[in-house]
Amino acid sequence: MSDVEQRGLPRRTVIEGAAVVTVDGAAPDGSGIGNEYPEGHVVLEDGLVRSVGPGPAPPRNGPERRVDGTGCLATPGLVNTHHHLYQWATRGCAVDSTLFDWLTELYPVWAGIDEDLTRSAAAAGLGWTALSGCTTVADHHYVFPRTGGDVLGGVVSGAERIGVRLHAVRGSMDRGRSAGGLPPDSAVEDIDSALEGTAAAVERFHDPGFDSRLRVAVGPCSPFSVSTELMTRSAELAREHGVRLHTHLAETTDELDRCAAEFGCDPVEYAERVGWLGEDVWLAHGVHLSDGAISRLGETGTGVAHCPSSNGRLGAGTAPVRPLLDARAPVGLGIDGVASNESGRLGDELRQALLLGRAEHGPDALSVRDALWMGTRGGARCLGREAELGSLEPGKLADVALWDLSGLGHAGIGDPVAALALGPLPPLRRSWRGGEALVEDSRLVRESERDLTAELRRACARLGTGRGG
Ligand SMILES: [Zn+2]
Repeated sequence: MSDVEQRGLPRRTVIEGAAVVTVDGAAPDGSGIGNEYPEGHVVLEDGLVRSVGPGPAPPRNGPERRVDGTGCLATPGLVNTHHHLYQWATRGCAVDSTLFDWLTELYPVWAGIDEDLTRSAAAAGLGWTALSGCTTVADHHYVFPRTGGDVLGGVVSGAERIGVRLHAVRGSMDRGRSAGGLPPDSAVEDIDSALEGTAAAVERFHDPGFDSRLRVAVGPCSPFSVSTELMTRSAELAREHGVRLHTHLAETTDELDRCAAEFGCDPVEYAERVGWLGEDVWLAHGVHLSDGAISRLGETGTGVAHCPSSNGRLGAGTAPVRPLLDARAPVGLGIDGVASNESGRLGDELRQALLLGRAEHGPDALSVRDALWMGTRGGARCLGREAELGSLEPGKLADVALWDLSGLGHAGIGDPVAALALGPLPPLRRSWRGGEALVEDSRLVRESERDLTAELRRACARLGTGRGG
């Protein structure tokens, strides 16, 4: 029985009077990103988009919930392709550091996380990002302290509390300091434990169904914290189980230097060498890519999770998003862990991607619609879910964000997509995952922000971060 049935709510919701941007175009091109209706409707029924189009919804008898979307913009729910939810308890640390210095300071802190902390941090982080229009989140969890208990189970139960779709990437690290890596030895696993834990996570949690709310991917952390053997065997394990692959790649020049010194090649060449290019792979960052690397990502259909705020926070550089899109590589947006993006809102990344991309590559680098496409359909493609998510089309899952553009922050901006992507992040009038409400009038439906905040403060106090209380 679904949550809707349990609560006795109508199985059909009709949104009318809103601007509707469907993002039903397969790729952003000169003509836009698909059908748009200045005033249209979206009908959600039995967890799916039943109809979408201009004007009012076709009349129908029977119980239904009606939502007046006047002054609002309806888009697909946003898809966050890269996060580290446990980091919600370690924001505001190493605030002026490079990636490697930041990691060196934070790894010993992260070595103290446990199941209770990941549950509280995941609920807090997902609640916050749900309020920014997210309905699907990929969480990359790679810290498994030996005394931490069921930390991945904590993330999963945190997600269940908020109601978003979760792609739980079971990460791993096997190169502690004694093996030339950055993490303390107490925060890494041996290869067999990492692979066994990953296989167990797939068997325990992965739901491959069309309307899945929980999928698992395989995600060794990065080439500088994971051995070549673990990278290679992780790829084999993922393909054996039919799940996707995710890791960090080509984030900083330090990583390029280390890759050249250790492997004699650039990160994308190394990824190819260990079986990590393909349509079942998406990579976080992809900041430092040669023209040849961009072509290779496009040819192989390897996705990139673009995390502009995190890249700016750590001074890592700017990903070549326009060339990646032109090469037909799937590109989605990511928050990245909030220890390197204290804002934690995917909606903000639309704007950040535009500003960073244009500052680096010129005013034609990205359009407002390119940004929305990446935050929705591009993200769905990275997660291998383009058939189900990322656009408002009949038969797709009813994951929708309804942005309120009627207030002072957006008054007078004629183009609703420009208002969303260039203006301040609008209040979220409503959002739905599979037709079930996640957010109503900028408040979470299932949890209270006050409770999540108090719980997070207690978690931070236990970890020794933040101000506690
Ligand atoms: Zn990351």
